[in-house]
Amino acid sequence: MISVARSVTAACALGAALAACGTAGTPDGARPAHARPAASPSATRTPVLTPGPGHLTPVFEHGPRTLGKTVALTFDADMTAGQGPRAATGEHFDNPGLIGTLRTLKVPATIFMTGRWAEEYPAQARSLGHDPQFEVANHSYSHYAFTDDCYGLPTIGADRMKSDVERAYAAIRKAGVPNPLPYFRFPGGCYDHQALRALSGIGVTAVQWDVVSGDAFATDADAVARQVLDGVKPGSVVIMHCTRSAAPTTERVVRTIVPELRKQGYRFVKVSDLIGETNGQGGNRPGSLTPG
Ligand SMILES: [Zn+2]
Repeated sequence: MISVARSVTAACALGAALAACGTAGTPDGARPAHARPAASPSATRTPVLTPGPGHLTPVFEHGPRTLGKTVALTFDADMTAGQGPRAATGEHFDNPGLIGTLRTLKVPATIFMTGRWAEEYPAQARSLGHDPQFEVANHSYSHYAFTDDCYGLPTIGADRMKSDVERAYAAIRKAGVPNPLPYFRFPGGCYDHQALRALSGIGVTAVQWDVVSGDAFATDADAVARQVLDGVKPGSVVIMHCTRSAAPTTERVVRTIVPELRKQGYRFVKVSDLIGETNGQGGNRPGSLTPG
């Protein structure tokens, strides 16, 4: 039985709308497997993990620990289906300053975008989708939870999970992102066996993380930066947000952690690079010395 661990950070407990805080828990039976070459119609050369038994959606959490100091920063572009009125009255669910800083610092990044966000900010979505420095992936259309009890998010029924993800791909493409990746991040990071089964057949790899930045609802950029720097290991995936209203310190955090991690010898990569490295290590290659 797969369950989501529940070590909720203080920031997470404060609010639910931006609930991608979550944990670094490893659900049983959802370990990354060796992969096959690309299986998505949307991005034919993108590395993905091999599905589990019965085509169960595979879950990726971090890259290899022994192939050098690489780290992937990921940013969730959160906007919930019901937040249109708040955007209309001036709340900013985007963060163009953060994206500009990533460009200035030449930090590749993976953006997990909700379909609703792409509808609200199509010019930014298009710009990200055409910039090779970034890769755009799927964070659902509605940002509703795929399990019960997920930071107070509204829950989506199992019969609507697949269509919600497909609706997000349609919205992201319509906004002008030509090749959104076959990666999916569960809202709040909450999933179970039913959710993984509901998405089987779409060809997505679920992408979690092993480093929680704690930027959601944070007010102390230094504390967030420390948490990232303390947590990063070779192959890490860091979760952050590009949503000004609910993660106001993230740009400052990036300005701190990027030079520091580079000083420590880290190289910034995208999630696809880490999945590619994972697929390339050991396994079934002829002559491989990997035991077992
Ligand atoms: Zn989210």
